[in-house]
Amino acid sequence: MEGECVSEGKSVWVFSDVYDLALEMLGKGRELADRLQSGLAAIIIGNNIQDKANEITKYGADTVYLIDSPALRDFQADAYLSILYDLTTNHQPEILLIGSTKNGKPLAARLATRLGTGCVPDCTRLNIDEDRRLVGERITYGGNATAKVAFKSKPQIATVPFRAFEKPKLQNRNGQVEKLEAKIEEPRIEVIERKPLEASNVRIEEADVIVSCGRGLEKKEDKALLDELSTVLCGQVGCTRPLAEDRKWFTEWVGLSGHKVKPKLYVACGISGVIQHVAGIRDSKVIVAINKDPEAPIFEMADYGVVGNLYEILPALKEALKKQLQ
Ligand SMILES: Cc1cc2nc3c(=O)[nH]c(=O)nc-3n(C[C@H](O)[C@H](O)[C@H](O)COP(=O)(O)OP(=O)(O)OC[C@H]3O[C@@H](n4cnc5c(N)ncnc54)[C@H](O)[C@@H]3O)c2cc1C
Repeated sequence: MEGECVSEGKSVWVFSDVYDLALEMLGKGRELADRLQSGLAAIIIGNNIQDKANEITKYGADTVYLIDSPALRDFQADAYLSILYDLTTNHQPEILLIGSTKNGKPLAARLATRLGTGCVPDCTRLNIDEDRRLVGERITYGGNATAKVAFKSKPQIATVPFRAFEKPKLQNRNGQVEKLEAKIEEPRIEVIERKPLEASNVRIEEADVIVSCGRGLEKKEDKALLDELSTVLCGQVGCTRPLAEDRKWFTEWVGLSGHKVKPKLYVACGISGVIQHVAGIRDSKVIVAINKDPEAPIFEMADYGVVGNLYEILPALKEALKKQLQ
């Protein structure tokens, strides 16, 4: 890789193929860098992204490594991997935080393997211990426990899910942008077609309001009830795993093996609230549960509970909210 500056080891680096997640990680990255009294760098890869690179310096990055090329317009695992490998080998950061996106997770694992180091996925907390090691915390055992993992090797690679950390406020800082020329590996895969996801399934992790359904929903067409309520609340629709995996009514789901969400409001309709689902929603600010079974476990963690039939409650709730919000 050409155009590199003098190696500034012992720093904290942040990378995500989703820009907003990179910003969220910068706040935590700054905190870790300050604890280590080191620098904070962000890596940004893509095409026509100079503006983003400049902006990212205002969110706490001392250095932004910019790799901008038409060949990198779309995410390519092999090319991104070799760029990150070259950069980390040359600059030797202490810590590398990678966004836990669909692309980011396998990328982090492959990078760690290539570098012969460890990788802790889906860290919802990150700290520095007394030996100056990174300690990551992640949910484990089906949501029943939290594992605290410290690293023995470097760089210490952790992936970070959406909304684990707050996006920092814009700061009056002047970081520097280093434009690098990367040798881009020939991709080993060919993209044949691109199809946009259904609007309701686009980045549910970022939604402020989620109206979610479970097996209490009887027919696929009844999704309209949830769509209507979520439209009134300017939210998105989610679901439990059986609705996606078994019934194929959705492509993705919320929960331990699906998306972990952190909305301001989560409305759980016809969802029993077993541990694998609630592990993905426990960071929601307010949970409203609608279930006809008063003994349903979801009521134990809900802030507000409505015991009743969702087919009666949802239309009534939609109408009441419409009036209220007009
Ligand atoms: C390894 C593993 C990983 C998993 N990961 C996930 C995950 O990430 N996310 C996930 O969601 N699940 C996951 N599951 C599945 C999980 O164990 C449960 O099976 C699933 O969450 C239950 O979904 P549910 O609440 O929709 O269905 P149910 O448990 O069947 O609950 C349906 C609820 O609807 C209520 N109801 C029925 N009719 C009405 C009505 N008309 N009005 C109001 N309420 C009504 C019922 O009282 C009941 O409480 C996982 C399972 C395994 C084994």
